[in-house]
Amino acid sequence: MRKKIIVGNWKMNNSNIETLSLLDELLKCNFSKKVRIIVSPSFTQLSLVSEKLKKSNIEVASQNMHSANKGAFTGEVSSLMIKSSDVFISILGHSERRTYFNETNEVLKEKVDQAIKENIEIIFCVGEKLSDRKSKNHFEYIKHQLEKTIFLQSKDSLRNIIIAYEPIWAIGTGETASPEQVQEMHLYIRNLISKKYNTILANSVSILYGGSVKPSNANDIFSQPDVDGGLIGGASLNSKDFAAIVNAL
Ligand code: PEP
Repeated sequence: MRKKIIVGNWKMNNSNIETLSLLDELLKCNFSKKVRIIVSPSFTQLSLVSEKLKKSNIEVASQNMHSANKGAFTGEVSSLMIKSSDVFISILGHSERRTYFNETNEVLKEKVDQAIKENIEIIFCVGEKLSDRKSKNHFEYIKHQLEKTIFLQSKDSLRNIIIAYEPIWAIGTGETASPEQVQEMHLYIRNLISKKYNTILANSVSILYGGSVKPSNANDIFSQPDVDGGLIGGASLNSKDFAAIVNAL
C-alpha cells in the first residue's frame, strides 16, 4: 500500500528563531491524518527541530548526508551524526546538490549504500534538465539516474526508499510540470520498478512530485493516479501554504 507523503525542504533558509516560529505555526495546523508529513531543516537545526517535533506527527529529514561514518571530511555530516539528532530520514540526490556540489550518480550510489547500511530512510531525487526534455531524452535520463543508484539496491532496500521526481526546470522557477507530464513520468518510473523488481514492489513505492508546487496547483497534481505526494521547497516555508498543500493530498 503506497503511503501519501508530503516533504517540506527548507533548504538554506531561516535562522533558529525563524525556524522555531515556523514550527509553532506548524504545530497549530490542522493536518490531514492520512498524510505522512516530513520537514527537512538545515544540519545546524536538526536537533532543535527534532526535539520540538518529538511529540507531534511531523517527522524530520536531513537534506544531505556523507557516505562515510566519520573521518577527515571537513564541513561534512555523517549518518551517525544525523541519527544522534534523532533523525532517521535523509533527502539524497537533490538537483541542487547534483548541480552545485558535483554529486554524481557514483557519489550518490555510495551515499545510498551508507544510508541503507545505517538504516536511514531515503528520499531519493531524480530529475531532468530542460534541454533533456526538449530533446525528448527525459525518460532515458531518469532511467539512467535510477539505474546507477537505487536500482543497484536489493528489493528489500528499495521498499524503504521514497522516490521524488523533480524536473530541474520546475524547481524554484514558478514553472510546474503539467499534471499530464507528471503522471507520465511517475508511471514510467513505476513501470521501471516493476520490470526490474516486480509489480507488487512497484505498487508499494511512493513517488512524490517536486517543482513549484503551491496551494493553487497541488490538487491537480495530486489527483494523478501515480502521484503519492510532493516534495515542496518554497511553499513549505509558509505554514498556511504548507498545510493547504498537505490537505490537498
Ligand atoms: C525542491 O527544492 O525540492 C523544490 C521542489 O522546490 P520548489 O517547490 O521551490 O520548486
